Amino acid sequence: MDIRVRFAPSPTGWLHVGGARTALYNFLFARRNKGSFILRIEDTDRSRSTEEAIQKIIEDLSWLGLEWDEGPEKGGPFGPYRQTERNSIYHEHLGRLLKSGNAYPCFCMPEEIERQREEALKKKISFRYNRRCRDLNSEERKKMMKINPTPAIRFKTPLLGGDIIFKDKVKGEVRFELSHLDDFVIARADGTPTYNFAVVVDDGTMKITHVIRGDDHLSNTPKQILIYKALGFEIPEFAHLSMILGPDKKRLSKRHGATAIFEFRRLGYIPEAMLNYLALLGWSFDDKTTIFSKDELIEKFSLERVSSNPAVFDPEKLNWLNGYWIRQLSDEELSRRLLPFIKERYGDVSLDKQDFIKLVKLTKERMKHLNEFVDWCYFYFVSKEEFTIDKKELDKLATSDRVELTKILEKVKKALIEVDPWEKTEIEMKLRDVVEKTGLKAKKVFQPVRLAVTGRLVSPPLFESLEILKKKETLTRIEKALAMIKGN
Ligand code: GLU
Repeated sequence: MDIRVRFAPSPTGWLHVGGARTALYNFLFARRNKGSFILRIEDTDRSRSTEEAIQKIIEDLSWLGLEWDEGPEKGGPFGPYRQTERNSIYHEHLGRLLKSGNAYPCFCMPEEIERQREEALKKKISFRYNRRCRDLNSEERKKMMKINPTPAIRFKTPLLGGDIIFKDKVKGEVRFELSHLDDFVIARADGTPTYNFAVVVDDGTMKITHVIRGDDHLSNTPKQILIYKALGFEIPEFAHLSMILGPDKKRLSKRHGATAIFEFRRLGYIPEAMLNYLALLGWSFDDKTTIFSKDELIEKFSLERVSSNPAVFDPEKLNWLNGYWIRQLSDEELSRRLLPFIKERYGDVSLDKQDFIKLVKLTKERMKHLNEFVDWCYFYFVSKEEFTIDKKELDKLATSDRVELTKILEKVKKALIEVDPWEKTEIEMKLRDVVEKTGLKAKKVFQPVRLAVTGRLVSPPLFESLEILKKKETLTRIEKALAMIKGN
């Protein structure tokens, strides 16, 4: 049997951590088993779905490297892959259910249903449709058609009692009491299919063998199983993934910081780390290995090792993995990935390739995300005209003694004028001379230099930074700093 799985996002917003993990597990399961991974856009809720969201989801999945075999734009043998383009397929299957007596038109007016729902709410019992239209004969239906020509269609849930049981690959055996289900709506008065119906028709006609999705859909599964049976489709295997919690053990949400994949992308996380991290959110290989490349994940992933406990999102671990994967990139590749971040922050800067690579080498070991690089290397990328010294940091340095600060920088300036050739060991030697002659602690001398020249108190290593900035600009900045200190 060919394994076929799908990721079926509703395009109502960004792709978030939970959705991305679902997509990844589907992808890995398909690749591991030499099966097919299908992308299906569930856009039947037209009021909430947007074209923009579809494009963003596609962009984020592509960024993560989760290539699909069939899907919108790409096509495939079981398309179309957008629900709004599959109306004729839903109608055909709706017709089949009506014909076989597994579904019936419900003429009850929405206001009447709403009234019953409110009543149930008041009595604190769960609302179940009273099945008033279930057993109308054809005469009665014709009559009702005149009163309400646009009936909803309901599924005729069997009245046998007992349980619906299925074996979930993550949750184990799951049971639902059939008597808890009512005759639920499968097509609305306007003819559009509801989620539970569309998803079964799609999974059935697309020959999906394994449904891997979030456990928020667990309670929909018994309804779907009934529809599978009524349509004569083979029931797929189910694997419901547990929810993801924030570090405070509450459901992961915006309150916890970044949760959308595009936010992580913009902060400078790289897909290698993101994939590695998402894989570990609920799956483990041996409870101890943490580093997995995409290929290793494909080789090692199995649903059997997906945990049924909720996963806890740990930003520290993600940062650590991101740093790790950044260090695995070659200097050239890392430079290439940094370019859009530099452009975003500083516009079009003309880069000296050698200097750029030097900066990358200097910062790579410490970098946890790509955005840090553009912060740290402010001194290099900012235009000469826009360069400023962080005033707050300057005040901090100058609190004890402004005159002393001036003296230090004057001495540094003198020493640096003598540096020739302008390269890091020479620069270091001269600056250490100043330290020795003044009898100050090295930090007392170096921090003012760092602030004057890089504008910040955090930068790449000092001597190397000065070398890259070149002599002329270094001295200009020290003079500017002196003027600033004296001036206020
Ligand atoms: N469209 C549903 C969602 O985004 C997924 C449905 C499914 O996987 O069955 O939650």
